[in-house]
Amino acid sequence: MSPIQEVVGAITQYQTGSAALARIQEALRLPAEPAALPAPLPSAGAQPATLAFEDVRFRYAEDLPYVHHGVTFDVPAQGMTAFVGPSGAGKTTVFSLIERFYDPEDGTITLDGRELADWELVQLRSAIGYVEQDAPVLSGSLRANLLLGNPDADEDALTRVLKTTRLDGLVSRLPDGPETLVGHRGTKLSGGERQRVAIARALLRRPRLLLLDEATSQLDAVNEAALRDTVADVARTTTVLVVAHRLSTVTMADRIVVMDAGRVRAVGTHRELVAADPLYAELAATQFLATAE
Ligand code: ADP
Ligand code: MG
Repeated sequence: MSPIQEVVGAITQYQTGSAALARIQEALRLPAEPAALPAPLPSAGAQPATLAFEDVRFRYAEDLPYVHHGVTFDVPAQGMTAFVGPSGAGKTTVFSLIERFYDPEDGTITLDGRELADWELVQLRSAIGYVEQDAPVLSGSLRANLLLGNPDADEDALTRVLKTTRLDGLVSRLPDGPETLVGHRGTKLSGGERQRVAIARALLRRPRLLLLDEATSQLDAVNEAALRDTVADVARTTTVLVVAHRLSTVTMADRIVVMDAGRVRAVGTHRELVAADPLYAELAATQFLATAE
């Protein structure tokens, strides 16, 4: 969810609800980009996070229907957990709650066994890298865009994340390398490349939990493979949650959480779910593309 949508959402709530002022203040405090956060605290060896939702009930406003009707799942440290389900199932909302853009009405969410409400907000958000569904707005050079994630990142760290996100090949082809302008007046990057820039930016902060809301646009084969390899690499050292819209993503997930209408209907591997869950089998048969919004 973009900060602007966030503010608009908050204003809507303000018009309809009472406890909304705090939420607007919260939304206005939201950093437009991770750059507004202090330099990342985690250093080398930062532990991948564990996460748990327990019976989470949530609605965006009191006069709106519940979006989560008691959502429960566990995510162990490390590895990749994919969330799948029809549009409107409540997948992106899972990420919004983890970031504490909103708080649940009931139930608990814990990171490393500690309730989110007990974390300092800045500390919580510095532990999380959030790559939103929409390709980020880019301005200036590729380097400037990456450093938004962590202004203190050194050349070594930049080289490493470019490699992890398979952007190193692209950079070597750009006329001015990392100094190439990739903003709207600069070189056009494809949707897949832009999302990888967003991942690279998030990785520079060395997150302990990476949230990736996969772009729904069709990717060419090169970008699809690059994105898949990137996520697989990151999941080796970090806890990765992906809202997945691609069969190629879910088939490599360590576990898949199938959501439907605000509930978790099944959890398992691709192979298990194809056999056990008709909705999952149907989504898989359409390569999940039918769920694109
Ligand atoms: P998914 O990512 O699975 O498609 P979402 O979590 O985005 O689903 O949305 C779940 C439900 O919540 C949908 O009905 C959607 O319209 C509603 N919703 C999402 N964001 C907001 C918001 N900011 N304000 C009000 N309703 C919202
Ligand atoms: Mg979504």
